[in-house]
Amino acid sequence: MADIIVVGSMNADLVVRASRFPGPGETISGEDLQIIPGGKGANQAVAAARQGAAVAMVGHVGNDSFGPQLINNLKRNNVNTSHVKVDPQSATGTAIIVVDANGQNSIVLSPGGNGKVSPAEVRDISFSDHKLLLLQLEIPVETVSAAAQGARESDLHILFNPAPARPLPKELISLPDFILPNESELSLLTDQTVKDLASAERAAKTLLERGAQNVIVTLGANGALVVTQDMTKHVPAFEVKVVDTTAAGDAFIGGFASALLQNRPLEEAVRYGCACGALAATKFGAQPSLPTREEVERFLGDALIAVPGGEDAA
Ligand code: ADP
Repeated sequence: MADIIVVGSMNADLVVRASRFPGPGETISGEDLQIIPGGKGANQAVAAARQGAAVAMVGHVGNDSFGPQLINNLKRNNVNTSHVKVDPQSATGTAIIVVDANGQNSIVLSPGGNGKVSPAEVRDISFSDHKLLLLQLEIPVETVSAAAQGARESDLHILFNPAPARPLPKELISLPDFILPNESELSLLTDQTVKDLASAERAAKTLLERGAQNVIVTLGANGALVVTQDMTKHVPAFEVKVVDTTAAGDAFIGGFASALLQNRPLEEAVRYGCACGALAATKFGAQPSLPTREEVERFLGDALIAVPGGEDAA
């Protein structure tokens, strides 16, 4: 049985690097096309599976050549795909991504089958077979709500990454054990500017006032901020040579979820998530950049050695 169940998106990321973005009506040449498995749901499933967690994915792909590629990729990463449907009426979700010489992205997202994952099929899931649910917002919000309700009835832990941000129904604020936005998502959710630790704490507290249980704000190179009813704690980022931060947030969430399942204390689980996010930022692409458990443990071991006195001094 899978400890973690992910109800979310699966995309084929079609990536072309070019010297610059084309203007309207313009055609420019780029490098060879790369087809990279992505989608926040699938990324988080793979991120957790690479940490050794038993993971199952619920989602849709289309009846085209990308669908089987995405399913096989999940299988290769030891993610159970028995709840992934091949939808003959839909295309597979795709992200058309141009990366310019500065590493900036320009993305057109075509949701395809992700837009068809329905509340009805989520109600058929046997949530009590699992321990923890991971949710994001690349499938219809009604489906995300139905999954949160089903999981709550079976006492699962619920981790909710409100990305891409949109106005949330009340239950998606109150049901999750943890809401995990990045700075811009938190800003959109609360209508507040989030630019540093103080403003992140203020905005996170706004979510608590609206009924959230615990908020973890990921702050890119500034690490993460944990805000609960009882405490606020900043966990700094690890210093790494950054290549591409795509999927750093997904790596964080997969790592954090797997650490929670190992009953690690909250702050230690967040630090583990930060290590996963930092390692993901050292490699290009979404899923290819997600670290394995061995890579994270080696990295954390090296980080301990780098700090005189080890863990106490960290
Ligand atoms: P998202 O990808 O959702 O925007 P973030 O950029 O906040 O999420 O990254 C998630 C986590 O990954 C951060 O909390 C941090 O621990 C780690 N991380 C991201 N970018 C960097 C970076 N440049 N250096 C070190 N760690 C990073």
